[in-house]
Amino acid sequence: MNALLKDKNIVVMGVANNRSIAWGITKSLHDAGANLIFTYRQERSKQKLEKLLDKNQIDAKLVVACDVEDDDSIKQAFQEIGDDAGTIHGLVHSVAFANTDELKGDYADTSRDGYLLAQNISSYSLVAVTREARKYMSEGGGIVTQTYLGSERVVPNYNVMGVAKAALEASVRYLAEDVGKDGIRVNAVSAGPIRTLSAKGVSGFNEKMSVIEEKAPLRRQVDQDQVGDATLFLLSDLARGVTGEVLHVDSGFHIVA
Ligand code: NDP
Repeated sequence: MNALLKDKNIVVMGVANNRSIAWGITKSLHDAGANLIFTYRQERSKQKLEKLLDKNQIDAKLVVACDVEDDDSIKQAFQEIGDDAGTIHGLVHSVAFANTDELKGDYADTSRDGYLLAQNISSYSLVAVTREARKYMSEGGGIVTQTYLGSERVVPNYNVMGVAKAALEASVRYLAEDVGKDGIRVNAVSAGPIRTLSAKGVSGFNEKMSVIEEKAPLRRQVDQDQVGDATLFLLSDLARGVTGEVLHVDSGFHIVA
């Protein structure tokens, strides 16, 4: 237990089950004393989240529905959060989606609809939630999203999601400039491959994991807890001088040729 986020109201978006990166983040934020507010899309995710919270004896301040494809849903969710919590001190954006048939084969075969869907849910959503959350971040704070190396390099099969993550990382920089004057910092964690529900949709995912153990400087896998602690750092005052940054939590894989 540390007190890095004691009494801070932090919104966590994207817990689908115990393997979700957002669940690793939840544990780190809870250990740091945060008051946690969750958003979910599917009813199934809400049920899994409630069971996990119960099992781990974590009290949620609030759990609200939010479909990031829908502006009204985002507005409503943040209004409810704002009304309940008063002030938001931090936001974790850990949501993404692409059709599985766009996560294999040639990127050149990406459909227009598939491209727009991936951008909509995985990238534009950060813009929309930042706009709504900002209204309640009157004391400043931090926003952290989750990205992947496929934004910087061609990672086989990551395809349309790599391009969405490139847009997401550019958004981090533009948003950091917009909200910096309100004392709000916007950063991303670029995690190495972690076996989650979403990761299952990427063709050849096992090879992406095994290469980390072979080639990354630390020669070991990345897990949800490591991403959780890095996200905690970025949300906390320890990172008060850091914004517009992409922090790699990938055992150093991105530095090797
Ligand atoms: P999960 O499948 O556990 O989490 C993805 C989350 O996105 C789910 O909670 C899902 O909610 C949510 N989501 C999808 N569409 C929407 C929507 N329209 N509105 C609201 N929520 C939505 O996978 P991960 O934990 O792996 O993914 C979390 C983030 O981490 C993603 O941005 C992913 O790209 C990123 N990341 C993952 C890596 C990995 O190897 N796993 C590596 C680097 C980054 P629901 O299930 O309720 O639909």
